[in-house]
Amino acid sequence: MLPAFRNEPLTDFSLPENQKAFSAALERVKAQIGRTYDLVINGQSVTANATMASINPARPAEVVGTFASGDASHADAAIAAATTAFESWRKVSVEERARYLLRAAAEMRRRKHEFSAWMVLEVGKTWNEADADASEAVDFLEYYARQALRIADSSHQLEEFPDEQLGLYYIPLGVGAVIPPWNFPCAIPAGMIASALVTGNTVVFKPAEQSPAIGWQVCELFWKQGLPAGVLNFLTGPGEIVGARMVEHPHTRFVSFTGSREVGVRIYETAAKVQPGQKWLKRAILEMGGKDAVVVDETADLEAAAKGIVASAFGFQGQKCSAGSRAIIVDAVYDQVAARVTELARAITVGAPDTAWNWGMGPVVDTEALDKIVRYIEIGTNEGTLLTGGHTLETPEGGYFLEATVFGDVPADGRVAQEEIFGPVLALIRADNFDHALEIANGTEYGLTGAVFSNDRARLEQARRDYHVGNLYFNRKCTGAMVGVHPFGGFNMSGTDSKGGGPDYLLLFTQAKSVAERL
Ligand code: NAD
Repeated sequence: MLPAFRNEPLTDFSLPENQKAFSAALERVKAQIGRTYDLVINGQSVTANATMASINPARPAEVVGTFASGDASHADAAIAAATTAFESWRKVSVEERARYLLRAAAEMRRRKHEFSAWMVLEVGKTWNEADADASEAVDFLEYYARQALRIADSSHQLEEFPDEQLGLYYIPLGVGAVIPPWNFPCAIPAGMIASALVTGNTVVFKPAEQSPAIGWQVCELFWKQGLPAGVLNFLTGPGEIVGARMVEHPHTRFVSFTGSREVGVRIYETAAKVQPGQKWLKRAILEMGGKDAVVVDETADLEAAAKGIVASAFGFQGQKCSAGSRAIIVDAVYDQVAARVTELARAITVGAPDTAWNWGMGPVVDTEALDKIVRYIEIGTNEGTLLTGGHTLETPEGGYFLEATVFGDVPADGRVAQEEIFGPVLALIRADNFDHALEIANGTEYGLTGAVFSNDRARLEQARRDYHVGNLYFNRKCTGAMVGVHPFGGFNMSGTDSKGGGPDYLLLFTQAKSVAERL
């Protein structure tokens, strides 16, 4: 019997001893950057003809790691290894599979600052953001271990059928293509891998191109617990080559994907096509982007609302699927809230996150992201009024830094109010009244997270019913879902609402088998 699940506490970096411990972890990790990594297929190191470098976005000349750039043949080999390994892994008891997760959680907890430090260096997370990511990874491991044990209870005895002994078994699917994004590079891979493995599936894991070093750290953590060869294969390479082949392969049984709408939709289409030699309909578990909004009405605590808007918009430089990149404010309090949001956004400090614990924002992840955000800032300047920010920040080392940027009076159908920018750009939208605000909030193709700041009971009930998002928050920010507390996943073009960190999630990686034995 395991103790009840509890979320991993976050680190208080205002305490000097925690700052010291984290700095020491950063130094340890800095001593490890620049290594070369192979693919790992069937427990063996495999090299590729080409390599790809992962860099520190605060200092692009600093190579965090050099990785093999795999191709379709490597994807085929990895899927073959995972297919063979599945035959024995599926027979391993759920208790044993859960123990791999629990051991991995214990080790990650002990080395949490190191995992966080990799994120500071490879994707530019501030210390708090990195710590939240690593803590969430621990949570996924602990939570899914418990959920797997819960759903493994096969007893299904019915009083009116005393002559049959009944069983309902949630058996694994097979080989999974696990394809995460870079923005939660520890928690999302840990959760996606753990959920697939603990339910008895085998995995070919392809980290995002921007965060392979953290992906490696997560895989190594699992391997170190003694996972049999072939159960978890590590494959780096371009998504459109390696990832595409993993999705297309006839022996892939399911795809677990988190990433952009564009790639998710493509995967959905490819996975739906039955390939020659394929014996099943692939399952596609897809979590995609968002254009999330914070709604504020005239009854709200306006100071709390302004702080909630800014925290939702600019945490991790706005690079969260849950980021509140729109704030929809009723006309009666719009000017007041806009002024305070502008003031708070202007005060956000920006710097290389390995140099201090308390930067407000670090860099955005790469030069493509920077260019895309700059293009949206140009669009926003035409669509609304630039209230603060709007500039890139030059540093001697050429990091990808931008100011926190706020546009006011953006039309609800403007591009910066409709398209996912994935950067520190916030669109303020003026609404006539609360009904109008909700209509605007629902007026994109996404439906991931949302928040409402209001003290009107009836309006909160209205939003509870009509605000069409997978994760809705009242009188708080729209980011920061906690495992086991706020099951996470979105509607419409935000994905298949798979609700990671929730009690139903693991069922997605299983198929139910009903067995009746005549007594
Ligand atoms: P992305 O879609 O560019 O890449 C995601 C992954 O897909 C990467 O590993 C990439 O290599 C791979 N990939 C690319 N092309 C592929 C192809 N043709 N076939 C198979 N795989 C392919 O996304 P990103 O830039 O890494 O991440 C940011 C996006 O992720 C944002 O849109 C964000 O909203 C979304 N996201 C969603 C959630 C959620 O839970 N809904 C969580 C985090 C991030």
